[in-house]
Amino acid sequence: MVKQDVKIGIIGAGLSGLSAALNLEKAGYSPVIFETTSEVGGRVKTDIVEGYQLDHGFQVLLDAYPKAVEYFDYKDLKLQRLLPGARIFTGKRTVTVGDPTRHFPFFLPTLESGVASLRDMYLLWTLHRELQGMSVEEVFQMSEMTTAEFLSQKGFSEKIRRSFFSPFFSGIFLEPDLKTSSRMFCFVFKMFGKGYAVIPRNGMAALPAQLANKLNNSEIRYNSLVKRVEKGKIVLEGGADFAFDAALIAADAGGLIPDEDEDEIQWHGCDTLYFEAEKRSISEPLIGLVADPEALVNNIFFPTSVKSASRGSKELLSVTVVRDHELSESELVERVKGELKEFCGLEDLRFLKRYHIRKALPKVDLSGINLSGTVKKIGKNVFMAGDHLYYGSSNAALHSGEQAAQAILKYLGTRT
Ligand SMILES: Cc1cc2nc3c(=O)[nH]c(=O)nc-3n(C[C@H](O)[C@H](O)[C@H](O)COP(=O)(O)OP(=O)(O)OC[C@H]3O[C@@H](n4cnc5c(N)ncnc54)[C@H](O)[C@@H]3O)c2cc1C
Repeated sequence: MVKQDVKIGIIGAGLSGLSAALNLEKAGYSPVIFETTSEVGGRVKTDIVEGYQLDHGFQVLLDAYPKAVEYFDYKDLKLQRLLPGARIFTGKRTVTVGDPTRHFPFFLPTLESGVASLRDMYLLWTLHRELQGMSVEEVFQMSEMTTAEFLSQKGFSEKIRRSFFSPFFSGIFLEPDLKTSSRMFCFVFKMFGKGYAVIPRNGMAALPAQLANKLNNSEIRYNSLVKRVEKGKIVLEGGADFAFDAALIAADAGGLIPDEDEDEIQWHGCDTLYFEAEKRSISEPLIGLVADPEALVNNIFFPTSVKSASRGSKELLSVTVVRDHELSESELVERVKGELKEFCGLEDLRFLKRYHIRKALPKVDLSGINLSGTVKKIGKNVFMAGDHLYYGSSNAALHSGEQAAQAILKYLGTRT
């Protein structure tokens, strides 16, 4: 059979499905992608609301991600860098901390902030050196504990853990207790130490859009909800079937495969609220952290601080809530506004939109992770991909799609 006639169905046009399609195309195949929504991107999407770009949840790309370097054309994305630091609001004080080796103006404020002791600085430096000397694979093989235990065991002071690590990494892991694996912490810390957090000029959705634009021989069928994957066929809502030689489920498979006892994926969620502000309380492209365990607000960011495209004289503010709550939307908006006034001195905010994301990051067990070849296979010709099989990050999604494509190619190679 000629390669173009081999039927490969991919379920999901998120980063993992798109990277799989690119790899299959490279090998001469023409996959068909079924996507239930009307756009590519999955969890990486951007809406335009009143002229503002609103990402679905505050997200950044770490430009040192090895797979991002391989898959994205950074120049074309016009990446906007965030400064390697944070403004910390404690309610009593507002201080700035950051890496003075990459942004020298951070030197004095960090020293004067009182957040990090000299010993903390030394520990940060030695951890940075240690992790930069390791490969990503080695980082994921380090002995494992929770991030909170790791930081304590490394000897970081209670002050830096409470005022910096806790709010900063809660915002990344989307859980307030830093129970996430220390391997994940070390990976992210290594990536932050090697590069910058960046956002494409046209919002995070530019990332999957760029991958989709590179596809020449794949077909994306939008608004196509896959109901089941049966022996040799993908069953779509509405009754149509797609007979396949190989299928890839690049999504949470929950219930797609009859008789398959899939463990239900557990997720961390969050709320991101967007407001229009009269002015910025942080003029530089710097993330703001609320370091108070009782506060709902975890972090704030002014997307207009990295773009020249602010709307007139107004500014866009994103606010992320990580802790669980049972507030209605209007109660949440009022509570958040109150905290923004109390901690960050922000007033006169106009609420624009809320993204309540229940399934933001998968809770994964990193103890058995094997980055060099974990591909999930069901039966002989159904494969799975997605960050939930690795760890919650766009790097993992790209990597997972790539590995699933390699497994499909291997399977197809054995058929002839
Ligand atoms: C709020 C938030 C913040 C984040 N922050 C960061 C960050 O700062 N840095 C970082 O690296 N990562 C971050 N992430 C994680 C990153 O976005 C994900 O790791 C990545 O997008 C996962 O891609 P995926 O392809 O594995 O899954 P998904 O993006 O979930 O893609 C799955 C696709 O499958 C489709 N689909 C599902 N079921 C079906 C069906 N039955 N039929 C047809 N189609 C179906 C979905 O519509 C979706 O398009 C964040 C995520 C969120 C939500």
